[in-house]
Amino acid sequence: MKIIRTYLPNSADNYNYLAYCPTTGVAAAVDPFDADHLISIADDNKLNITQIWVTHEHWDHIKDVNRLKELTSAQVYAPHTCKNAMDADIWLEDGDEVDLSQHHSVKLFLTPGHIAGHGVYLYQDLQQPTDNFILAGDTLFNAGVGNTKSGDVEQLYHSIERLHQLLTEQCQIYVGHDYMVSNLKFTLKHCPTLKAAEQALQAAEAESHDSRPIQRWQDEKSYNLFLRLDSNEVRELTGKDSRIEQFKALRALRDQW
Ligand SMILES: [Zn+2]
Repeated sequence: MKIIRTYLPNSADNYNYLAYCPTTGVAAAVDPFDADHLISIADDNKLNITQIWVTHEHWDHIKDVNRLKELTSAQVYAPHTCKNAMDADIWLEDGDEVDLSQHHSVKLFLTPGHIAGHGVYLYQDLQQPTDNFILAGDTLFNAGVGNTKSGDVEQLYHSIERLHQLLTEQCQIYVGHDYMVSNLKFTLKHCPTLKAAEQALQAAEAESHDSRPIQRWQDEKSYNLFLRLDSNEVRELTGKDSRIEQFKALRALRDQW
C-alpha cells in the first residue's frame, strides 16, 4: 500500500491522506476535510476513491465525509465508538481489518483519550517493513500527543502505551495535523539539550507543510517527550516517578504553553 499526504489550506493545519493500492488504483481518503481537493489529487494520480476512513468525530476530521461519499459513492468506515456523533457504513471494533483491495488491508485499533471515540489505522507489510504506516489522527503528533480537552488524559496514556507494543521501528507516522514545529519548540524550551529535537526542528523548519519530513517510529521516540517516559529528562522535568504521572504532567505543561 502507498500513501499520499496533503496539507489542507484554510484548515486547522489538518493533513489529509489518500492510502492506495498501486496494483488496482483504489484509494481510501482519510478524515476528508475538502472533498474537491482530494478528488483532484486522486484524478491527478489516476486513483479511484472507494473508501473513507475516519479516525474520530471532531468536525475538522469529518467535515467533507458526506460530500465525498456523495461524489464518489465511497463506503465510510469509522470506529464504533463514534456511533452517536456521525454516520458511517461500517462500524469498526478494535482489531478489525479493512480490506482496501485484495492485495492490501489495514487494521483499526481503538485509541481513546483525545476523545472517547478515536481509532488509528495501521498498515503492516511483513515483507517490506519500511512501507508500514500508522494513520494516527489526533492520538499521536510529531513531537507531541493529542490534547484531552474533550477526552481523558489517563485513557490517552494507555493508548500511547499500546502504540509501543503495536508499532515497528520503521513504521511511518502520519498525523492529523502539522504541529511539528511548535511541538518541537515546546520540547526544546523544556529540554534544551535534547539534540534529536534540535535536529528535527531544523529539518522541519527547512520544509513547507507539504514537504515536512515523514518521521518513523524510531525517529519519533528520539525526541517526542511523551514517548520518552522514564528518560532522565522527563523524570527531571516532571519530578514524577511513575510513567502515567510523567505523562499527565507533560500534557499539563503542553496545555499551558
Ligand atoms: Zn480532534
